[in-house]
Amino acid sequence: LPSRLPAVGTTVFSRMSQLAAEFGAVNLGQGFPDFACQPALIDMVGEAMRAGFNQYPMMTGAPPLRAAIVQKIAALYGHEYDAGSEITVTAGATEALTTAILCCVHPGDEVVVIEPAYDSYLPAIALAGGVPVLVQMELGERGYSVPWHKVAAAVGARTRLIIINSPHNPTGSVLRGTDLAALADIVRGSEVLILSDEVYEHMVYDGARHESVCRLPELAARSFVVSSFGKTYHVTGWKVGYVAAPAALSAEFRKVHQYNVFSVNTPMQHGFASYMADPAPYLDLPAFYQRKRDLFRAGLQGSRFELLPADGTYFQCVRYAAISDLPEAQFAEWLTSEVKVAAIPVSAFYQQGKESGIVRFCFAKQDETLALALQRLAGV
Ligand code: PMP
Ligand code: GLN
Repeated sequence: LPSRLPAVGTTVFSRMSQLAAEFGAVNLGQGFPDFACQPALIDMVGEAMRAGFNQYPMMTGAPPLRAAIVQKIAALYGHEYDAGSEITVTAGATEALTTAILCCVHPGDEVVVIEPAYDSYLPAIALAGGVPVLVQMELGERGYSVPWHKVAAAVGARTRLIIINSPHNPTGSVLRGTDLAALADIVRGSEVLILSDEVYEHMVYDGARHESVCRLPELAARSFVVSSFGKTYHVTGWKVGYVAAPAALSAEFRKVHQYNVFSVNTPMQHGFASYMADPAPYLDLPAFYQRKRDLFRAGLQGSRFELLPADGTYFQCVRYAAISDLPEAQFAEWLTSEVKVAAIPVSAFYQQGKESGIVRFCFAKQDETLALALQRLAGV
């Protein structure tokens, strides 16, 4: 069969988790918590099931959940979406991203992608017949940043979409208000759309705030904003996310969504809707993860790993030049098999596999898990 995705293999996350299991390594590779979600959330899903919410929900998402999403976005970012026409519940953020790309990118359209980039963007663009135009982040004293003049230079008459991601996987960098202003300057007066991957919206540290594109009305008017309950509520396996977008964009999004998954499982949606009545779980998340970030960074302080800044997400990137000159993928495999701590090579987030001598650790783990990993990493 001639492949639709000839350059694609099994994702780096699946491969590294498999390797971690094979070697009994502490898995700081694939990003997911190793601790439980709140029992109250599970109770609410159970209640929804017992109350009979077990058949197809509306294609666009269960109304109470869409209403809760609208309220939350309005309270946090000041943008009022319409629950009926502008919010769609998806099978995780992954489905939202792919559906958004498929619904607006025509064959030959250009899509600006900022590298390192989450691994699902480029295959989705390929399936749509789009042409990626890659712009690389720059790594300086204060960490990774987006060179907006290069983004501006990458935008042309064929550009349909720009994909951004903040807080950013894998670098942990966070866009500031000045970044969004630069983006707004680039797209003003054009037809270019924006796909904003904000799945780590509640993981921004040191008192900074998340800059959702929907804070700026001129950006909200042309953006698909994507988030995921998996990240926010420690339930990555439930695979529920959403997209918020103006009605005209949401209408096109729903045309693809309805023939892709049609709808997303009902009881989880009702469970999340009830659970979201209390904002504390997501308002407390920055402090919760900042403590883990600080614990992990402190543990690596005396080691030969060089810490890069970690302003957001649950990822910590490190340079390992003082330890090895292996390429990143081989270094990550060696760490997994010999040191028994799994990591993700950052080269996996570059189309051409760019080598920076950097790997990514996930610190969304119990303190004991982090302590065991740190004990092993300290000796490297
Ligand atoms: N975007 C980014 C940047 C991610 O890190 C992830 C999860 N690893 C996703 C999207 C996908 O989220 P979900 O698990 O909800 O599909
Ligand atoms: N987003 C997670 C990560 O970056 C992995 C999700 C997946 O395995 N697809 O580690």
